[in-house]
Amino acid sequence: MKAFFDDRQWKHQPRHFMANGTVMPNPEQAERIDRLLAGARSAGCDVAAPIDAGTGPIAAIHSPEYLTFLENIHPRWMRIEGGGEEVIPNIHPANRTDSYPKSAVGQAGFHQADTACPIAAGTWEAAYWSAQSAITAADAVAAGAGAAYALCRPPGHHAFGDMAGGFCFLNNSGIGAERLRAQGLRSAILDVDVHHGNGTQGIFYHRDDVLTLSLHADPERFYPFFWGQAHERGAGAGLGYNLNLPLPRGTTDAEFLSTLDIALQRIKSFGADVVVVALGLDAFKGDPFKGFAVTTQGFAQIGGAIARLGLPTLFVQEGGYLCDELGDNLTATLGGFSEKSH
Ligand SMILES: [Zn+2]
Repeated sequence: MKAFFDDRQWKHQPRHFMANGTVMPNPEQAERIDRLLAGARSAGCDVAAPIDAGTGPIAAIHSPEYLTFLENIHPRWMRIEGGGEEVIPNIHPANRTDSYPKSAVGQAGFHQADTACPIAAGTWEAAYWSAQSAITAADAVAAGAGAAYALCRPPGHHAFGDMAGGFCFLNNSGIGAERLRAQGLRSAILDVDVHHGNGTQGIFYHRDDVLTLSLHADPERFYPFFWGQAHERGAGAGLGYNLNLPLPRGTTDAEFLSTLDIALQRIKSFGADVVVVALGLDAFKGDPFKGFAVTTQGFAQIGGAIARLGLPTLFVQEGGYLCDELGDNLTATLGGFSEKSH
């Protein structure tokens, strides 16, 4: 399987976020890259750098206002007297339709959902190349590769069209799906990360041309809290084109796989030409977020179940945090897919 990654994705080196009122080290560490590269290579991936397709495919789902903010906010923030080294918001609008201020602090509150998406000097460049990895991988799939893996880090599925959040800045899975759709392919985004893909849902919520599906820990008591319930089915033309499958904390392989079957059936009913897998590996029982109890063998079965769809597949890396098995879980997923797709 072809895999894509750019060394500039190392440049995002987040230091802090706040959890439960405590300032903590940010879990989305660049060291994840080494683990994931090793995991991809163990699965037989041949890793190449993406080409630069420019801003157009990113702006297909993100507002130019937001992209201007991401690219320029850090130097602006550095001019704030007494400002911190990372852009982290401390105030938010009550509604997204409220006034758009000129202030860097005000714009940070508008465009950043929480404290888990700090922006430092290299963040924009890293996020840009993470998105390019997804775009080049999408193009490989559109050109006839049966599958491709985009090592997207920083991840993307919590990023909305105009808002970062939860370690995410640009919605790589959404960018990949939109790139495929623009080439005439009916695209479904299947999110298996332990957290609900709220940004992805938000971007496509009113659309019927990209199907969005997410299996995740019940947001009643889990991030992202305000999205991810089963009753969120899309709106307007998009009604019926979003499927949320919240599951209890501690969900095991068998429960996850039987629920995955429901999502796979929906993808078939949509008549998808291609599936984009928002591949979070944080459903793992040993992940620091401790949402689900999926095992390494379970990831192989997830990969195998997706392969049985018989569709061209774009894997886009989402979450999955530092633990000894992170690389193994990627190897298992891609390996399980490849084994069943032959
Ligand atoms: Zn996650």
